[in-house]
Amino acid sequence: MNPMEPKQCPHCNADLDGEDIYEYFLRIYSGNEKKAMETAELFGWAKEHPISFRLTIGEYDLEQDRTIGHRCPVCDTEIPSESN
Ligand SMILES: [Zn+2]
Repeated sequence: MNPMEPKQCPHCNADLDGEDIYEYFLRIYSGNEKKAMETAELFGWAKEHPISFRLTIGEYDLEQDRTIGHRCPVCDTEIPSESN
């Protein structure tokens, strides 16, 4: 849909290119599975339905009926869209 989706957060350098959220935190927490899972669940990740970062960052504007930007799920910073 949006070809300008950021691949990486310019603020914290998180990989936003569809990496599984649990996998990401597992790396951040040096393999601590419990902590990684707890944190991933804060982002809506669950064992039964794992999600990747890409699914969490689109900011959709209902009135404009389009994606207006992206937000980094890790540092919660808005990532400016380069498409316009
Ligand atoms: Zn970030």
